[in-house]
Amino acid sequence: MIPAAFDYVAPTSVEDALAALAEHGDDAKIIAGGQSLLPVLRMRLNAPEVIIDLGRIESLRGVRDDGDAIVIGAMTPHAVVGSDPLVAEHAALVSKAVEHLADAQIRHRGTFGGALAHADPAGDLGAPALALGATFVIQGPGGSRTVAADDFFVDLFETAIGEDEILTEVRIPKHTGWGAHYEKFVRVAHQWPIVAVAATVRMDGGVIAEARVGLTNMGSTPLRARGVESALAGANPTAEAVGAAAAAAGDGTNPPSDLNGDAAYRQHLDRVLTRRAVLAAVGA
Ligand SMILES: Cc1cc2nc3c(=O)[nH]c(=O)nc-3n(C[C@H](O)[C@H](O)[C@H](O)COP(=O)(O)OP(=O)(O)OC[C@H]3O[C@@H](n4cnc5c(N)ncnc54)[C@H](O)[C@@H]3O)c2cc1C
Repeated sequence: MIPAAFDYVAPTSVEDALAALAEHGDDAKIIAGGQSLLPVLRMRLNAPEVIIDLGRIESLRGVRDDGDAIVIGAMTPHAVVGSDPLVAEHAALVSKAVEHLADAQIRHRGTFGGALAHADPAGDLGAPALALGATFVIQGPGGSRTVAADDFFVDLFETAIGEDEILTEVRIPKHTGWGAHYEKFVRVAHQWPIVAVAATVRMDGGVIAEARVGLTNMGSTPLRARGVESALAGANPTAEAVGAAAAAAGDGTNPPSDLNGDAAYRQHLDRVLTRRAVLAAVGA
């Protein structure tokens, strides 16, 4: 279907984009890479009167080193994030997740911030952002504010970004030297995950000193597998110990049931994928 008619503005600064949002209010919608918004418009599930394109705002693109964190601009395409050496060195879990995100075309058009703002529970970036303790920088009419990953994902397709605000960048604390793996379960290549697990671990003296585990599509938002994380702290990186810790992966989850699998199947997958992800992250 062809989308309903809309006006189009393409500001060159965040301030101008915010002014356009303030002017048009509920009638306006931001477009980033358009990979999720355009299908919505074409199905006429939404018919904004004005589209505000962030594509000409250069300050929203790129990856930079900021001391103890790396900062990823909201408009940085997935393909750039996936091949960035700073991301690979300090937030390897993000690089690993991007490898599995959709196909090459979508990775070139879709953006890091757009995917996180869209907050699809099956999106591949939420769980790594949560596991790594990312902070979201959101700009609005009153200035800039930061929101911790734990508070950013509110519900299905809902985040802490207000209607008059724009996600400008995501700050990821450096996890230099941590092992990382993203284990995604799909039926066919380039599909959204039925379930996926993001695991990153810090080894010390041959044992797992610290582990962070994020779950994709196990509830209406990405989730931390905190029971698994605490069971892994101080554990040996053996199949037995990791398997025992992974038994807690389903705790506190509320996965959907759909044509790809019911909730019980997803909880089974979650335990299996958590074990695999952690073992791969420790290099076993
Ligand atoms: C066929 C197909 C397969 C896909 N497979 C996967 C997959 O396997 N895994 C996966 O994770 N993703 C997948 N995607 C989605 C892809 O990752 C998109 O890039 C992403 O969901 C949206 O990013 P975008 O930049 O295109 O945002 P857009 O589509 O432009 O915007 C999405 C939403 O976010 C809002 N928004 C965008 N940027 C901002 C901002 N800076 N501030 C505030 N609000 C903003 C928009 O208003 C809109 O509501 C797939 C998409 C398609 C079409």
